[in-house]
Amino acid sequence: MKFGGTSLEDEQAFQRVARIVSSNQSSNLVVIVSAMSGVTNALIKGFQRAGQGEASEALQTLERHFERHLKVISHLSATLREKMIVVIEQSRNEIIELLAHVSASRKTSSQPMDAMASHGERLSAKLLTSVLEEYGIPASYVDARLCIITNAEHGCAKPFLEETCRQTRAELQPLLKAKTVPVLGGFIGASKDGVTTTLGRGSSDYSATLISAALGAREVQIWTDVDGVMTADPDLVTSASTVSQLSYEEAAELARLGASVLHSKMIEPVVDQKIPVRILNSRAPERSGTLIWAGAEKTTQAVRAIANKTNLIRIDITSTPEFVANGFLGAIRNIFDRHYTQMEIVATSEVGISFACEEAGALSSLVQDLQQLGSVETKSRQAIISCVGDGVQSVDNSGKLLNILSEIDPALTWQNKSSHSLISMVDEDCVGPVVRQIHQGLFERGK
Ligand code: ADP
Ligand code: ASP
Ligand code: MG
Repeated sequence: MKFGGTSLEDEQAFQRVARIVSSNQSSNLVVIVSAMSGVTNALIKGFQRAGQGEASEALQTLERHFERHLKVISHLSATLREKMIVVIEQSRNEIIELLAHVSASRKTSSQPMDAMASHGERLSAKLLTSVLEEYGIPASYVDARLCIITNAEHGCAKPFLEETCRQTRAELQPLLKAKTVPVLGGFIGASKDGVTTTLGRGSSDYSATLISAALGAREVQIWTDVDGVMTADPDLVTSASTVSQLSYEEAAELARLGASVLHSKMIEPVVDQKIPVRILNSRAPERSGTLIWAGAEKTTQAVRAIANKTNLIRIDITSTPEFVANGFLGAIRNIFDRHYTQMEIVATSEVGISFACEEAGALSSLVQDLQQLGSVETKSRQAIISCVGDGVQSVDNSGKLLNILSEIDPALTWQNKSSHSLISMVDEDCVGPVVRQIHQGLFERGK
């Protein structure tokens, strides 16, 4: 069971989580948690502020969050509360030391940044362990850095699967045998030499599926603040409904294309063993949520959900028709790979190709390299809107679907470079209205 930051925002939320764990106690459970909502952002911001020489101002902005942690444990028994006060104080002291160090060196490198960011998950996991104990649930905090072993790419470390599997089993199986619930922070790991790493923003979901795969879990449950994966981002479309089932391919595609309820890498670890993943609402645990599994029912609806991804840049590259027809795409892919930048093709023509990629730091050197292949134009503040579903795959469906989509908005052009999605690019400011319009056309007709 993984509980996201939105399910751990305050004392009541921790109680809700404890009740959910308690009602599933008969299963052999492992609990993975994110930091309390807003804490990772605050830690990263504080770290950056300290890098400008403002360590005490940075600490000031974090005090509110230490208070939030203290409030969570305010009604625990005296012994547990005292133990947790010490834990929070220890973490605060380590953070003060980190801030002072960064402030003195004025260097915000990614290694101490990971050490800083790791405190959110380490604290919430320790706090939840004590809340579970208060509920009479035998629980034990496990340092995730002993389980998830990664390379040293700080900020987006990649797990070594064999080591992670071996370590996870060694740390967790004895506890499970003893009917004790291990509680771990997601998001964090350690390199082979024991230095703290993080797996990328929002990656507690990924930690949960990695650990589940290592243990051969029967099921993964991702508990969040919405009823499951919805037909569109519920922040944009209030009428979005819960998707009851998704195949692994659909879920992975939605995650990749921006449905932030799922982390982009979380599906990968569970596919081989066909471990089902359930997305559930911690505020309404009785609802059935979304089941992601190998047996997802085929529907007549070609599109299961609409995803959107913002903060992108569009890159248009034009060259000669001969080059575009021969080797152009391969050369472009090599350049993106060399710059560790993921891209989506959003339009193609005889004389060029257009891509979308994230507005990352090293973009100018990527563009410089691309200029060797043709003339390059860029446009920022762009977004991708995607229609995702296994039904998109069939040519028949796709033709029909493209007609429907062009009726909904004739101005949009669609690309189907993957068999599970159609994607289109729009200005970031148009995302809300366009997604609502497509949602209405695909899911609300006749309602
Ligand atoms: P957690 O803290 O539980 O990891 P996240 O904020 O990462 O929660 O993910 C849940 C949020 O994802 C929802 O509150 C919603 O705003 C957003 N979201 C975006 N697209 C979708 C979608 N298709 N279905 C459900 N939620 C979505
Ligand atoms: N706390 C981390 C983040 O905010 C990881 C997560 O929430 O999954 O990115
Ligand atoms: Mg999340």
